[in-house]
Amino acid sequence: MTLHIPFDNTYTGLGPVFYSKQAPEPVSKPHMLAFNRDLAQLLGITPSDVPDMAEVFGGNRVPEGADPLAQLYAGHQFGTFNPQLGDGRAVLLGEVVGTDGLRRDIQLKGSGRTPYSRRGDGRAWMGPVLREYVVSEAMHALGIPTTRALAAVATGDPVWREGAMPGAVLTRVAASHLRVGTFQIFAARGETEALRRLTRYAIERHYPEVDGPMGLLRAVRDAQARLVAQWMSVGFIHGVMNTDNCAISGETIDYGPCAFMDVYNPSQVFSSIDRMGRYAYDNQPGIIVWNLAQLATALIQQMDDPQEAVEEATEIVHAMPGVIEKEWLSRFAAKIGIASPQPGDMALIEDLLERMAAGQADFTNTFRALAGEHARDQFLEPAAFDSWEKGWRQRLETEPDSKALMRQVNPAFIPRNHRMEEMIAAAVSGGMAPFERLMQVLARPYEDQPEHAELQNPPKPEEVVPATFCGT
Ligand code: AMP
Ligand code: MG
Repeated sequence: MTLHIPFDNTYTGLGPVFYSKQAPEPVSKPHMLAFNRDLAQLLGITPSDVPDMAEVFGGNRVPEGADPLAQLYAGHQFGTFNPQLGDGRAVLLGEVVGTDGLRRDIQLKGSGRTPYSRRGDGRAWMGPVLREYVVSEAMHALGIPTTRALAAVATGDPVWREGAMPGAVLTRVAASHLRVGTFQIFAARGETEALRRLTRYAIERHYPEVDGPMGLLRAVRDAQARLVAQWMSVGFIHGVMNTDNCAISGETIDYGPCAFMDVYNPSQVFSSIDRMGRYAYDNQPGIIVWNLAQLATALIQQMDDPQEAVEEATEIVHAMPGVIEKEWLSRFAAKIGIASPQPGDMALIEDLLERMAAGQADFTNTFRALAGEHARDQFLEPAAFDSWEKGWRQRLETEPDSKALMRQVNPAFIPRNHRMEEMIAAAVSGGMAPFERLMQVLARPYEDQPEHAELQNPPKPEEVVPATFCGT
């Protein structure tokens, strides 16, 4: 069978100021590491044999109907505006409309240099590619909006990082790759017409029900508020919430130095380059508001009455912490078995979190254990849990299905850092069994899988992964 991808491209229609046409650069010896058949089916893709697909998803053959390009964007990186970024190591092959009627981008990441590569090599190595593959699919299974992974291909070429690493290409699927930074670049350049065109395109593609730039701002606010609350609820730390990594669609995008935490520590940072802790776990709600303010600033540039627009945009941005809090409360209330939060529940949740931090409790396992008997064992001083538990049990008396609710929202399995490192080390030496196992288990994160119980264990002291890297 020949590979068929039903491309239906619209981004090129925006006009050439938005991108540079760029084919992927060929690789020496493409070898398929992973292919997501379920996702392919959703996208209406007819697979071919594995070696043939490795040619396409490794970048050696541009499939029929693709119109590869590198997208232009800007962005605030760690708070500093970079007036021009763009896909420096990725190309958009094109878009498809899935069997669910949703339009998605298909992008190769690690596919070679583009006009936006600056000093980079345009490549990725196997570690970050497989990491993104596993974590993005795990996020999807957790029910959190995210880009997805269609394929991972080893290139057969070395990539120079700390030393020579085996190169790889990820095929990423996204609702779109429009970012806050896509708006920022045209606003910063004063290209109002392009900004207007982009705004219309984003509304039509993601939020057809909304009206105008301020309607878009409000919709992105709500989507991003929900997303951050979802991250918080599973102990996820994105690690690089730069405005170029903040998707208009509200999907999680750009899995670089991200990580799920083991022990609950609200100021946890993993990224080796985040020295100030800007993107620490509990800074994420504040940072997403900051990012939305940047989007507001960009969108305003196209308004006929800027003064009035500033007032409206300010109001929208100022309301965001309240929206996040509401989303946060409903998710954390569910985590302790409360379906409809009431006044006082916030304090109950915060009290538990404080005790978890002091007691060095594992975030995932503590919440999962609330529906069982062993939550207290997660705490250095179990008595700290016991004294909280009394008030909690009283509160649950009016919550009929608390156990079932908790089991639905508190995962048993997350992609733990030390398991990811183990998986990458194995893959580098040719063993894909740990990858396959993680994919299989993480596809059903809310189910007990006793035969894989060891994947629930936090790292032993010698297994702790203290830092993560961007993989660039
Ligand atoms: P990221 O931190 O992955 O969001 O990347 C930030 C910017 O750096 C983007 O414009 C990337 O395309 C670019 N970039 C990252 N890694 C590379 C690389 N290896 N070669 C060229 N550009 C890169
Ligand atoms: Mg990025």
